[in-house]
Amino acid sequence: MAGTFVIYADKPAVACELISFSISAGKKACVVTFDAGTARRFARSGAGKVLVLEGENRLLENYARALAGVVAQEGAEAFVAGSTVRGRELAARVAGYLDWPLISDVSSVRYEDGAFITERLMYGGAVVRKEKAPVPAVLTIPGGKFEPPAEGEEEAEIVTLDLQPDTRISLVERSPLDKRGVDLSAAEKIVCAGMGFAKKEDLALAGELAQVLGAEIGCSRGVAEERKWLPADAYIGISGATVKPRLYLSLGVSGQVQHVVGIRDSKLIVAVDINENAPIFRAADYGIVGDLYEVVPLLIRALQSA
Ligand SMILES: Cc1cc2nc3c(=O)[nH]c(=O)nc-3n(C[C@H](O)[C@H](O)[C@H](O)COP(=O)(O)OP(=O)(O)OC[C@H]3O[C@@H](n4cnc5c(N)ncnc54)[C@H](O)[C@@H]3O)c2cc1C
Repeated sequence: MAGTFVIYADKPAVACELISFSISAGKKACVVTFDAGTARRFARSGAGKVLVLEGENRLLENYARALAGVVAQEGAEAFVAGSTVRGRELAARVAGYLDWPLISDVSSVRYEDGAFITERLMYGGAVVRKEKAPVPAVLTIPGGKFEPPAEGEEEAEIVTLDLQPDTRISLVERSPLDKRGVDLSAAEKIVCAGMGFAKKEDLALAGELAQVLGAEIGCSRGVAEERKWLPADAYIGISGATVKPRLYLSLGVSGQVQHVVGIRDSKLIVAVDINENAPIFRAADYGIVGDLYEVVPLLIRALQSA
């Protein structure tokens, strides 16, 4: 393989997907990790090289300058980070230190003739912006865009590096997030509750359907952010979770673009809505026009007797 992409993601599963991206571009994936425990997983998952960064400093971002040095030392054509809060932060700093262009949060990306061809959603998902950036460049890619490679027997070289952090910023306090939901991005089946539900108690109906299907519960933004009926990590869409389940079944979700961009990689989309003109039906493979309070009990009964 000619050329190297240096990869970092704070979620190991996303790092593995970025290895796939590198391989698909015909580039060696040099994976950087701060966790020696995951190094062997990467070494067996198609990485060409794994760099374990050792350091006492607890702020990942403080290693941005040192990491930029590593990227340059590897002669890499790209630094590719997972689009997480920390990945974006790190990528922006690395791009600054290297003076490379940064393309963030791509919704699709391919590498062709020495350049990245990317698509990004703009204006809350109303517009798709296509860009072309020649290497070298920094990219951030969300999880769920590539299939991770299967773990094999072959192990890549693992190198430990002792890096000097930037000590100008220190961590003052750390407090846990109130995370009550499941990881929807990994869910196989999702029942998604929208503002079509009249009362919080009625979500039990969605819960019952989810139980029969063996699905997780998700929702539209309003259900979580306005009504506070479900935790914020349960909402799906451009500012929430991006999902790719085998089955996504929406109940009373109108299907505004900001929601639909989060579900478009689903294998099968089924929608229930009382309004036959609801935009969700344009995204759906199957649609049921009807009152969810009538349709859902019928679905539950049909599934139970199936
Ligand atoms: C910058 C920005 C980012 C955003 N990000 C997100 C995001 O990430 N995720 C997200 O979800 N939204 C997001 N939104 C909000 C988005 O635009 C919509 O407002 C939201 O998705 C609507 O949620 P909903 O479909 O549940 O509600 P509504 O649009 O109010 O739709 C409710 C639906 O329920 C149907 N209904 C009503 N009663 C019944 C019944 N008894 N039976 C069956 N159907 C019924 C109605 O016909 C309607 O179609 C964002 C908006 C902006 C501006």
